[in-house]
Amino acid sequence: MITASTDIKYLKGVGEKRAVVLKNKGIDTVGALLRYYPRDYLDWTDIKPINTAPLFEKVCVKAKVLRVDAEQKRSGITIYSVICEDETAQMTAVLFNQKFLAESLRVGREYLFYGSLSGGFLFRKMSSPKIVPAYNNSIEPIYPAGRDMSSKQIKNLIKTAIASLKLPETLNEEIRERNGLCSLEYAIQNIHFPLNREAFLKAQKRLVFEELFVLRTGLALLKSREGKKAGYVIKQGFLSDFKKLLPFSMTSAQERVIKECMRDMFSGYPMNRLVQGDVGSGKTVIAAALMYAASKNGFQSAMMAPTEILSIQHYKTLLKLTEKTGIKCALLTSSVKKREKERIKEALKNGEIDVVVGTHSLITSDVEFNKLGFVVTDEQHRFGVNQRGSLASKGDNPHTLVMSATPIPGTLGLILYGDLDISIVDEYPAGRQKIDTYLVDTSYRPRIYNYIKKFLKEGRQGYIVCPLVSEREEVDITSAKEYYVNLSQGEFKEYKLGLLHGKMTSKEKEEVMTRFAEGEIQLLIATTVIEVGIDVPNAVIMVIENAERFGLSALHQLRGRIGRGEYKSDCILVTDNASEDTLKRLEIIKNNIDGFKIADEDLKLRGPGDFLGSRQHGLPPMKIADLFADRDVLELAGKEAKYLLQNDPDLSKTENLNLKAEIIELYKKLNKE
Ligand code: ADP
Ligand code: MG
Repeated sequence: MITASTDIKYLKGVGEKRAVVLKNKGIDTVGALLRYYPRDYLDWTDIKPINTAPLFEKVCVKAKVLRVDAEQKRSGITIYSVICEDETAQMTAVLFNQKFLAESLRVGREYLFYGSLSGGFLFRKMSSPKIVPAYNNSIEPIYPAGRDMSSKQIKNLIKTAIASLKLPETLNEEIRERNGLCSLEYAIQNIHFPLNREAFLKAQKRLVFEELFVLRTGLALLKSREGKKAGYVIKQGFLSDFKKLLPFSMTSAQERVIKECMRDMFSGYPMNRLVQGDVGSGKTVIAAALMYAASKNGFQSAMMAPTEILSIQHYKTLLKLTEKTGIKCALLTSSVKKREKERIKEALKNGEIDVVVGTHSLITSDVEFNKLGFVVTDEQHRFGVNQRGSLASKGDNPHTLVMSATPIPGTLGLILYGDLDISIVDEYPAGRQKIDTYLVDTSYRPRIYNYIKKFLKEGRQGYIVCPLVSEREEVDITSAKEYYVNLSQGEFKEYKLGLLHGKMTSKEKEEVMTRFAEGEIQLLIATTVIEVGIDVPNAVIMVIENAERFGLSALHQLRGRIGRGEYKSDCILVTDNASEDTLKRLEIIKNNIDGFKIADEDLKLRGPGDFLGSRQHGLPPMKIADLFADRDVLELAGKEAKYLLQNDPDLSKTENLNLKAEIIELYKKLNKE
């Protein structure tokens, strides 16, 4: 029998070979196939008059065939001109070599033509239209297809799947009724093969709601530690002791945020807080102050960062701060040597280590803690929601803090992080110099190099972010190496250069970063591995090659590597691609330094769909809902989720079991990524 979880290869018409193609599309079960929604529809019911139909976009017209002319071209192509008309105008449909189709058309009979119209004032033409008999009133699904499998083949498989299986209903009747939602069965049928436009809209409404509801209920479950007692309560903040360890005084924003966090940690309930602050606003110190307090109160802390380089940097920062305090710090990343790793794990387990910093290797199953009371995730948008949950689950309802520089526009942020309290660091450390940003083409390169040299001679340091030449990391790294060799043997022969890229071992990376931080390397040639978090205040100039290849938030993050100290900094964006769009985007970076402003402008320019690509927020990719356009539904779904969990906190009631299964499925998928 076929169920939703049946391997796709067992569906009639699939087999081993096609199963591979489907699995590459993320369709590994029959259920997943039913959830593979059309990318678009060919709506044969949406008929436009020929004379007023918009030009150069796909439209459907209904016209009577008057004549079919065939013209033999020397190149061996036969061009058929189908002259036809509706009540409003005449049109010529042009077919290339489609003998069978052309000859099947009957003069005097009506057909539907689908394609894009071109022409002038009196003349309309449609090249290679799709043509079906006029009585066809279907809405045809179009699936994301590829060379391996056509939309039509997918359509046929989905037909088979619908006939062999009914997906279990995930929304209980009460919820459906209250929100005017159709059944899942109806929705699946009509999202693939809409009976008419109305049925399609009904199906869409239900599936959008369902997707967001599953998401929100899942998020709410993740947060269900709420109401539970924290395993560890801090009794005293030790903030004034901590401040004495710092070489600078904190900004009032930093101090305020720390106090907000401490209030949570005093409360007896676990803290669950997001600290949002632009690049360079000094979030690390906030985490450090709290970790300090945690260890002083006798419990362990863990800090997770998305890259090895960043973990190492945080580790060093903490080491420096805690030097004379007796607090024990450790670094745990995937490339720590096995023996060392075993030693650290042992020490974590028996409580000898107070603070551990690392990449996601911290969440592997064999890392155990003695009394993990506080968990920090830096650059949280780089992690999935589930990952931050995994780390927290190693403690006894620990306090959690997530830090992010990626601003999420307004209300949406509140909705998505609805399970978090938010603190905002809205102030930069004093004495920050502003960064000037320039936009130039490659003809300026000699001047740029001279400009860099001027800074290096003054004792400052800089970065050159290498061109992205392809989508493939290896190729980019090769080009970074070449770039490095060229500069260090040529233009910058007299200077000390370093190279940093993602494929170096952790040891190599650390060595380069240390030499750079200590000023031994003057100019660092790097790929985007330096995008997150790197902090070397003496670095004051950054050149970004192929600036057009980077997204705005990446550029903002990159530029955030300079302007971190007392010196004025300059960022030079180099591009030869002067298309209007590119210029517009780069102008935004040039004219704005505030990450929130940039995100806002970015949103206006690109539209929300893009901006909220799943990488940005760590949420699963949406199949049908649009987190921005459907934000009303998102909010509604949140309310319903809350209400549901009040009545059935662990979703154990029969009518909610299918929903629970769906949520587990969603987070399982996330864990795999
Ligand atoms: P981000 O918020 O981007 O993570 P960091 O925590 O890396 O920022 O801090 C950026 C730099 O500012 C670091 O060199 C840090 O030591 C420094 N810094 C942080 N707070 C202050 C402060 N109050 N006064 C001066 N420098 C500070
Ligand atoms: Mg940081």
